[in-house]
Amino acid sequence: MPPQVKRRERAILRANYAAWQTTLVEKYGERCANCGSAKSLTLDHVLPIARGGRSTLENLQLLCGACNRIKGKLRVDCRQLAQPKSTGDKL
Ligand SMILES: [Zn+2]
Repeated sequence: MPPQVKRRERAILRANYAAWQTTLVEKYGERCANCGSAKSLTLDHVLPIARGGRSTLENLQLLCGACNRIKGKLRVDCRQLAQPKSTGDKL
């Protein structure tokens, strides 16, 4: 991927960071999608920019600092593990 595209995707992420983090916290809770920790949560690209991933809400997940470091540039989608918060509907 050309450097200017990477820069653009990082800029898009920075511009929307707070709003997207709020959206993901509302949807999944304030916790890491992998381990459930609430420590130093960061937005992580499910498919990294370096591998052609884009800065869209659909390609982002909340990861704690530790899990983000472990994940590196691998493609790991932890969101299946993080169930969206119950809406309170009864079965
Ligand atoms: Zn974690």
